[in-house]
Formats: sequence, C-alpha cells, structure tokens
Amino acid sequence: MERTLSIIKPDGVAKGLIGEVLKRFEANGLKVAALKMIHLTKKQAQGFYAVHQEKPFFDSLTDFMSSGPCVVLILEGEGAIDKNRKLMGATDFRKADPGTIRADYASSIEQNIVHGSDAPETARFEIAYFFNALEIVN
Ligand code: GDP
Repeated sequence: MERTLSIIKPDGVAKGLIGEVLKRFEANGLKVAALKMIHLTKKQAQGFYAVHQEKPFFDSLTDFMSSGPCVVLILEGEGAIDKNRKLMGATDFRKADPGTIRADYASSIEQNIVHGSDAPETARFEIAYFFNALEIVN
C-alpha cells in the first residue's frame, strides 16, 4: 500500500475536469484518502515547487499554480505513485501516451492538468505540505 499526492491544477479545475480526473483514478484502483480544494498563494506555490526554483519556468509555473483554485488529494493503492504517473502521462503532453490525462486534456507543457508525486520521499513531503494527520482517512 502506497500513498501519493495528486493535484488537479488550476487549468483542470477551470476546464471542468475534476469529475473526469477523479473517475480515472477510481476506475484504476486508486482510492481517495484525502481531498480538498485550495487556491494557493504565489508563496505557497513557490514553497511547493521549491525544487524547481532555479528553473527558467519557475516564475511562470508558480504564477499559473496560484492563478485559480486547484484540488489536492491523496491517492492510495498498491504502487500508487507509478500508477498515478502512468495515468497522468509525460510532462510534455505532446510526448504523453494516448489515453493519458495529459494527452487528452493538457494545453501546454506548463498547463498540463495534473501533478503527481514522482517518488516516495517527494510523496511524503508533498502530502505533509497540504494535509495533517486528522485530514487523512485510514
Ligand atoms: P511533472 O513531475 O511531470 O509535473 O514535471 P516536472 O516536475 O519536471 O515539472 C513540474 C511542472 O512544471 C510541470 O508539471 C509543468 O507544469 C511545469 N513545467 C515543466 N517543464 C516545463 C517547461 O519546460 N516550461 C514550462 N513553462 N513549464 C514546465
């Protein structure tokens, strides 16, 4: 059993894709262990993406992530981290496998609908960034 953090980014929420994305997670054996809607401040977005602070797209990315509400959730299941990454597709939607969330709905390399933790350590950091123990269902 593994947990991973997922975000339906502001573009996904604006395009009305909350239900569609959740449906894909649930249909593929990922259980929702926590979920909330949040409008990040620029500072909160910068803290979340601190690993990317030296990247040329950091300012644009954190502007985008704080541009509107997003849905943050914890997904739980066997191999949840990899399973979620497979459902999401590659960062660049033009390279994402057909049928993945990003291939189907992303509009740019930045506005790519979803975030998902990429490793157990990042999942731990990212889950703790958004949720306290009382908010997570066992
Ligand atoms: P992810 O793990 O697939 O989300 O990809 P990364 O951790 O490499 O990047 C984090 C996020 O930054 C991506 O999901 C995109 O929203 C954005 N991003 C990544 N690469 C680029 C880029 O080259 N240009 C821009 N503008 N945004 C990018």
